[in-house]
Amino acid sequence: MIDNINDLPEKIINIEKITFKDFKGEGRVLKIDFNALEENKYKKIIKRLLFIKNKAVKKKIEMGKRDKEKRLLGYVINYDENNKKHKEFILGINAVLYNNKYERYNYIYDTVCDYLDGFFYGKNLCDFKDNKCGEKRNTSSNVGCCHHYKNKILGPLLSNNLIPCEYLKEDHSCGAKCISCKLFTCDYLEKKGIKFRIRDIFLLDTFFNPLQKYFIKTMVFNPKNKIINRLLKL
Ligand code: SF4
Ligand code: SF4
Repeated sequence: MIDNINDLPEKIINIEKITFKDFKGEGRVLKIDFNALEENKYKKIIKRLLFIKNKAVKKKIEMGKRDKEKRLLGYVINYDENNKKHKEFILGINAVLYNNKYERYNYIYDTVCDYLDGFFYGKNLCDFKDNKCGEKRNTSSNVGCCHHYKNKILGPLLSNNLIPCEYLKEDHSCGAKCISCKLFTCDYLEKKGIKFRIRDIFLLDTFFNPLQKYFIKTMVFNPKNKIINRLLKL
């Protein structure tokens, strides 16, 4: 972060205009000026940066300028810490800076899970009372939506035996860190105006293709490692 624009070095590249040629010049750093960036271009800019970064990794070119033990990558100007879009853009740059897909997906996965957990934390949005949530208030279910039909292959049409999810712990927390479950919102929550769409979550929308997004949305009842491994193959 920088407060005085006059402190910027001469060899600086506007992030929205970066090309691979720029990247090759040792000592060049990025300028990320939020007053100059258009919000509707954030996704495009991050995607291009990722493309250039991947090309640089293949050619063993390092970005930025060496500064003692560290490497200086760029300067952030006019950042507003209360602006959700600014935060998302910086998270996107963080994701780009990982050198391999596994580490990048792991970072995105954990960051989005933390965001979703934080959204629900301490609010009891599901209105749990005596272990029954709002949606299941008049049913026998006391595990919210953490149950499935016993025969997952034959599916609900051929089995009516509902059992709790195997990842549900005794304290009713989830032992799987399943992002798809965290994104799920039932009718009860949707009536309260709570719904998560992949296209509204910048990191998911920017870094994954349509097939990956489909699996992120639908791989409920699965642990994190299984979901990440599936995403890596798509
Ligand atoms: S998401 Fe809906 S069904 Fe699941 S625990 Fe919350 S209120 Fe219940
Ligand atoms: S994986 Fe899904 S269904 Fe199973 S405990 Fe976790 S949140 Fe509940």
